[in-house]
Amino acid sequence: MSETKSGVVIIGAGHAGGTIAALLRQYGYEAPITLIGEEPLAPYQRPPLSKAWLKGEADADSLALKPTEFYAETGIEMLLDVRASAIDRAAHTVALHDGRTLAYETLIIATGARARSLPIPGADLKGVLSLRSAADAEELKASLGPGKRLAVIGGGYIGLEAAASARALGGEAVVIEREPRILARVACEILSDFFTAYHRARGVDFELGAFVESLSGADGHVNGVKLADGRTISCDVALVGVGAPPNDEIAQAAGLDCNGGIVVDIHARTSDPDIFAIGDVSHRPLPHYHRSFRLESVANALEQARQAAAAITGRPPPAPEVTWNWSDQYDLKYQFAGMPFEIDDIVLRGDPATAKFAVFHLTGDVIQAVEAVNAPAEFMAGRQLIAQRRPISRSRLADPTVSMKEVAA
Ligand code: FAD
Ligand code: NAP
Repeated sequence: MSETKSGVVIIGAGHAGGTIAALLRQYGYEAPITLIGEEPLAPYQRPPLSKAWLKGEADADSLALKPTEFYAETGIEMLLDVRASAIDRAAHTVALHDGRTLAYETLIIATGARARSLPIPGADLKGVLSLRSAADAEELKASLGPGKRLAVIGGGYIGLEAAASARALGGEAVVIEREPRILARVACEILSDFFTAYHRARGVDFELGAFVESLSGADGHVNGVKLADGRTISCDVALVGVGAPPNDEIAQAAGLDCNGGIVVDIHARTSDPDIFAIGDVSHRPLPHYHRSFRLESVANALEQARQAAAAITGRPPPAPEVTWNWSDQYDLKYQFAGMPFEIDDIVLRGDPATAKFAVFHLTGDVIQAVEAVNAPAEFMAGRQLIAQRRPISRSRLADPTVSMKEVAA
């Protein structure tokens, strides 16, 4: 079965795919646009899944990137609940699992990432969950509440945000992390210590430097996490939050350059000039740092959607951004910008004990990254200073009585 379509075909109806479909129309693209998504839902935001959704403060409508009628009104055809299985670059076609074939002039791969599973005994027990989709979040939500103990394997964003939500719902939570500190891959030690203490004060237990060997169960349902030191951490539900590898297999099979994600240039173009890749699945240049990296954030999905949409419609490329992200836990707003590459010092501004502070990462007197907790002025000024590469005075930066405006002056 074959359907002749042309124009733009987008594989992956997530944050990046949904955004670029809308942007192309906004930029005046008039040819057909087809959005293929394996989930049954139109594009939606994932950030609330580990926060508002678990606490019953969000629903499918509030998560949606656009109201359903938007797609029909703007002539964007959505093929949902169907997976793209192969790309034929020579024929310029995409094969779908249901047997259809779509022709494209320009292809955009926006297949995101998936929750990594743990290849250990017991991982297939009922109640061993992951969190990537609205369906996953719904399943987890049903397992949380008073009298329920959540064990999270992995002290990353998923783990900490889910633990905070579990506590807000009146349940117990324990975070099990292989490294000696949480957020080891993404945050500095000051932040790791701060978040550990903040969660502990709100009743979350931590097992740090703990190697998970297997999951135990009774009647086919999980009831504990077995550690290498012989202990079993009891639980009613286990959430595996140990990272998210890219869904780049379809690109690898089509012979596109991949390196822990689909390699793209500053226009989000892959090694095939008619194919773009955006969002979590791409391995992209970070011009500010003269490096390439795979970023996993909404800000990155939006920036790359703008890059690719501009290239496809012949607009000037958008100015490169300093990457940024956020995480909400309890009453904390954690925002971070930039990347801490080749850092020789950090400067702490404010006191972590007040839950309002920022950590700046510097090379010489130039800020490369900022991590801010309940400190939006530090975050915003820090992001600007990173972009400007302007040397600052470390002593003034460290002094909260000197405003960020004065630091930047
Ligand atoms: P996705 O949004 O994952 O979309 C990819 C889509 O492609 C999926 O729907 C997938 O099913 C589909 N797909 C994959 N393969 C195929 C195929 N072969 N055929 C058809 N469809 C396919 N980021 C932040 O910046 N801040 C946050 O606070 C934050 N919180 C998060 C909380 C959770 C629980 C999660 C899971 C992520 C969070 N993120 C957050 C990360 C952010 O959601 C991602 O960076 C963003 O969704 C990336 O967009 P994407 O379109 O690349 O991938
Ligand atoms: P993550 O941020 O990569 O964190 C995974 C954590 O699990 C890391 O600390 C990792 O340690 C640890 N880990 C890995 N293997 C382990 C094991 N066997 N036992 C115990 N710990 C182990 O990934 P995530 O928290 O799972 O999040 C998944 C995706 O959702 C990512 O794309 C993330 O960006 C996104 N997300 C983002 C936000 C946000 O931005 N606010 C919120 C939720 C989710 P090592 O570093 O040693 O590998």
